[in-house]
Amino acid sequence: MLQEQAALLGIELVVLDETNCPVRQINQNEKHVAGSFRDPEKIRELARRCDVLTVEIEHINTDVLEEIATTGVEIGGKMKKVPVHPSWETLRLIQDKYLQKEHFQRAGIPVAPQMVVNAGESMSNSLQEASNAFGLPFMLKARKESYDGRGNFKITSPEDFETAVNTMGKFSLYAEKFLPFRKELAVMVIRTESEEGETKSLYAYPTVETIHEDSVCTKVFYPPRHVSNEICEAAKDVASNVVRTLKGRGVFAVEMFLLENDELVVNEVAPRPHNSGHFTIESVPSMSQYKAQLYSILDIIPSSIKLQPRVSSAMMINILGGAQEDSHHSLVDLTYSIYRDSMDIFLHLYGKSSKPGRKIGHITVTSHAPDSNLEELAAPLIKEADRIRQ
Ligand code: ATP
Ligand code: MG
Ligand code: MG
Repeated sequence: MLQEQAALLGIELVVLDETNCPVRQINQNEKHVAGSFRDPEKIRELARRCDVLTVEIEHINTDVLEEIATTGVEIGGKMKKVPVHPSWETLRLIQDKYLQKEHFQRAGIPVAPQMVVNAGESMSNSLQEASNAFGLPFMLKARKESYDGRGNFKITSPEDFETAVNTMGKFSLYAEKFLPFRKELAVMVIRTESEEGETKSLYAYPTVETIHEDSVCTKVFYPPRHVSNEICEAAKDVASNVVRTLKGRGVFAVEMFLLENDELVVNEVAPRPHNSGHFTIESVPSMSQYKAQLYSILDIIPSSIKLQPRVSSAMMINILGGAQEDSHHSLVDLTYSIYRDSMDIFLHLYGKSSKPGRKIGHITVTSHAPDSNLEELAAPLIKEADRIRQ
């Protein structure tokens, strides 16, 4: 999606990923670096070919990114420094969810209470301490490498301790108070900064509601359902405050819980384009999250920036791979056959091979009609997407 946007803007992207990765469908330049984005030498090679580096996944080697940004990479006997956006410091901080939340807490941003869980023999005692402090249920989470809920374990009773030790014991862990939220909200924020690294501007997209099932984001609603304007504006303020504390340019997704008492608590940040911003491709056509990512890392955000959607409502449905490799075909077919006067349907398939639970595409539906109910209009799509996932 970043490449689609870059092509329209005449911005050349060089990608580090496997030889036949999805982006090669539309990126055919000779500069492609084929290999793993975890391989330091490949990352250095990418840096040699670029003016600025950015990431689409935060689980990467930040030591080599630090080296590239501060010491540089050797090219033709000379050292070349390549800026990394967002900053390697931000990426390193965000990689560790426990440290990430400590950082937000120090900045006065509301987060769930948390505590480190010991490894090895004292893990069970540690879980007992967490249970005493937070009550049951509580969340046991891997500090690093987690995504789509992989690395999360909900402890509902002391009987779960043993399973937790067996399945999670190999990770570096922390425990987090379980928050019985009313909704999950998210805000994408664009951050630009001066050469000195000071925040220059922060632009927040409108607040969206995110639905997670089995810890995976399955749907996104703009605007959030049954949430007041005041709360949506408050969420934008919280998200901007969060991103102000981070370093580097780019778009950042701030995930939040809206509690029953309308309090907002920050869950975590994704330092990159994100599910919760996919709806902007069609809904904010003059500045989708991908355009914003390119413009911000190149520091050419136009002064005409407008983030208000051009539609009255939008919904994003993730296409998750099903039990069979072709399980999602029925859903794809449905996007061709369903017709609603007041709803537009946009299918995105990424060209990834399908695996159970893997995000292989998404569908965005939008409406210009002020009072249309997209959940109702798109009910067959939602039902089919849910069925495949089972
Ligand atoms: P991703 O990076 O794909 O968003 P992740 O693996 O980092 O996911 P989290 O964001 O920590 O996982 O959690 C996934 C989901 O689990 C949340 O969106 C929320 O639905 C639920 N969850 C996580 N932490 C809590 C909590 N403390 N209380 C209640 N629910 C929680
Ligand atoms: Mg995460
Ligand atoms: Mg999350």
